[in-house]
Amino acid sequence: MLVIGGGLAGLCAAIEAANAGADVVLLEKLGECGGSSALSGGLLAFAGTDMQQAAGISDNDTLLYDDLRRAGQQQNDEALVRTYVANQSAAYDWLKKLGTTFTSVELAAGHSAPRAHSLRSQDFMALMAQRARGTGRVKMMFNAAAERLLPANDTARVEGVAARIDGKAVNIRARRGVVLAAGGFARNAAMVNLFVPHQAKCVVYCGAGCDGDGVRMAWALGAGLRDVVHIKGTFGFHPDTGKTPGRDWSKHSVYRGAILVNKHAQRYVDESKSYKLLGDAVLTQADALAFQIFDQGVMDTSSDTAPLFKFKEALALGRLLTEPTLDALARRVGLDPAALTATIERYNSFVRAGRDDDFGRTGLSSGYGKLVELKRGPWYAYPSTSGLIATYCGVTVDSETRVIDVFGEPIAGLFAAGEMTGGFHGVAYMTGSSLGKCVIFGRIAGRNAVAGTA
Ligand SMILES: Cc1cc2nc3c(=O)[nH]c(=O)nc-3n(C[C@H](O)[C@H](O)[C@H](O)COP(=O)(O)OP(=O)(O)OC[C@H]3O[C@@H](n4cnc5c(N)ncnc54)[C@H](O)[C@@H]3O)c2cc1C
Repeated sequence: MLVIGGGLAGLCAAIEAANAGADVVLLEKLGECGGSSALSGGLLAFAGTDMQQAAGISDNDTLLYDDLRRAGQQQNDEALVRTYVANQSAAYDWLKKLGTTFTSVELAAGHSAPRAHSLRSQDFMALMAQRARGTGRVKMMFNAAAERLLPANDTARVEGVAARIDGKAVNIRARRGVVLAAGGFARNAAMVNLFVPHQAKCVVYCGAGCDGDGVRMAWALGAGLRDVVHIKGTFGFHPDTGKTPGRDWSKHSVYRGAILVNKHAQRYVDESKSYKLLGDAVLTQADALAFQIFDQGVMDTSSDTAPLFKFKEALALGRLLTEPTLDALARRVGLDPAALTATIERYNSFVRAGRDDDFGRTGLSSGYGKLVELKRGPWYAYPSTSGLIATYCGVTVDSETRVIDVFGEPIAGLFAAGEMTGGFHGVAYMTGSSLGKCVIFGRIAGRNAVAGTA
C-alpha cells in the first residue's frame, strides 16, 4: 500500500494498514515526517474521555456532534461528522495505547465543554513516526514527492504514483490502494487566490510541504472539491511571521483588554469577536495591518505557558514594542499621536459608560470578561495581521475516505485523509477537530485501502 505524506493523517493510515498486515511505502517530500501536524498547537477534540471525567467535565458524543455541526453552520457533511463522533472514543484510546501523553484538557473555540486534549505536537509526531517504523512493515522514503497519480492499465483505478525521489523520476505501483494525506495548500498562493482571493494577503505559517500537491493530483483525476470558499486566516500574527527561525504564534492581547487600531489610529471592529472574524476584518484595512494597543494593566496578564498570551516573550523577541508614553509609542509605530490618544480616550469613555457606541464591544472575548480602561503606562503595540495556518478543505470524500469525483462516483483505488479533504468542517473549524480528523479518518483510510474497499 502507498501513503503520500508523513503528517498525522499519513502516519495513522500507515500504522493501521501495517497492523492489518500490509506492507506500506510512505512517501514524504521533505527530509522528515511532521508536516503542519508537528507545528500545531497540539489540541485534539475528543469527548467523554477519562481525563474529562477526572476533571469533572461532562461531555458526550451528542454535544460533540452538535458543536461540530454548529461550528460548520450546518454546512458540513453530516455523514462525515457522524463518522468522527462514532470513532473518536476509540481513536483516543488507540493514541493512548500507542503511548501518547495528553497534558491537559482545555476549553477552546466552538466547545460547549472543555474538550481540547493538549499534547506537545513535536514529541507526538516523533512518537507516531516511531510507532509506524516499529510495525516493521512501513518503509518511509524522504525527499520523495509524489507528482501524479497513475491509473492501472486501461482502467481508471488508481494504482500508484509518479514520484521524484532525491531528484530522480520513479513510478511506484501499489498492490493495494493509494492514500493521499499530503496536507493543505496554504503555501500555494495561486490556489488560495483562486478560491478566496481576499485571503491572499494573509501571512502564511504552516508546514513547508503545504503546497496542495495532494489536492491537485486528485483534482486532476476528477475529484470533487468541498469547503474551498470557507478558507480563513487567524488574526494576531505579526507581519514578519515565518521570517525568523523558531515557532510563531498569534498573539491575542485583545482578549485580555487591548484595542485594535488601523494605520490611521482608528478602531475598526468589536475586538471581542472570534479571531477568525478579526482575521477577515484586518484584511479590509490599509496594508492588512493593525496594532494591538494596550497598557501595563493588560501586560500584567501575560502568561508563561499559553503561547497566545505570552506577551513578555513577544517583548523579549522584539515583536511587541513598548514606550513609556502613548505619544512615544505612536511615533515608534508610525501612528499619529493625537489620533491614538483620542481613540484611547474615546474607548475609555465607553468602558466607563458601559456602552461602546462605535462597535458594540461588551466583553473581552465573545461577550465574556469585564472591559478595562487603558491608562497605565508603559504602553505596548503588537503589529498584527491575519495568518493562514491551514486550509481545512479540499477533495470530496465519503465516510469510508474514498475520494469522490465530480459526478459523485468513487475514484477506484484512491483514498484521502487529513487537511486535504473537504466536507468535514463546513463553514468553520472547531478547535481540535483537524488533528482529530487526521487520526480518525487516517485510520479508516489505512484499513480500507488494505481491504480494497474502493
Ligand atoms: C500553527 C498551527 C497550529 C495548529 N493548531 C491546531 C490544533 O491545535 N488543533 C487542530 O486540530 N489543528 C491545528 N492546526 C491544523 C492542523 O495542524 C493540520 O490541519 C493538520 O496537522 C494537518 O495534518 P495532515 O496530516 O493532513 O497534514 P500535514 O501534517 O501537513 O502533513 C502532510 C505531509 O505531506 C507532505 N507532502 C506534501 N506534498 C507531498 C507530496 N507531493 N509527496 C509526498 N509528501 C507530500 C508534507 O511535506 C507533510 O509532511 C494547526 C496548524 C498550524 C499550522
